[in-house]
Amino acid sequence: MNTEITFSDGGCTCRFVRYRMTSKPLFVHCCHCRWCQRETGTAFALNALIEADRVQLLQGEVEVVDTPSNSGKGQKISRCPRCHIAVWSNYAGGGDAVRFVRVGTLDDPDRCPPDIHIYTASKQPWVVLPVGTPAVPEYYRASEHWPKESLERRAALLARSRQQ
Ligand SMILES: [Zn+2]
Ligand SMILES: [Zn+2]
Repeated sequence: MNTEITFSDGGCTCRFVRYRMTSKPLFVHCCHCRWCQRETGTAFALNALIEADRVQLLQGEVEVVDTPSNSGKGQKISRCPRCHIAVWSNYAGGGDAVRFVRVGTLDDPDRCPPDIHIYTASKQPWVVLPVGTPAVPEYYRASEHWPKESLERRAALLARSRQQ
């Protein structure tokens, strides 16, 4: 991997935490579950899923906060220790290997529109989903929606984690 490549930098509001995504994400979720609504204080969360080693901390440090999750297995939310803005999460499913980067913390969030809308069963009724983007009432299978390249990256990640 060429670490000189930058997809987008990002960071918190007080600018203590600065990070870099070194490639495009695997997939982007727009999650309409009630948990994401509560955690963001708004209608949905926008998360870019990416291998942890493709997110470089350029400056500062993150405080990892154990937070309950819908699955009951919990999530670890990485926050700026000063302004407490959340920059990414790790869920039990993907473990520490996959980060869910909060798209709104990217300097260029427009580069990460949703690839799928999930948990639309609890979508706030005024949110109108765009035609042409997949939407599912709850969760989905990556093999049915992710592009081939992302599935290959996921397979490489799983192979690496088995070797460790
Ligand atoms: Zn901050
Ligand atoms: Zn959610």
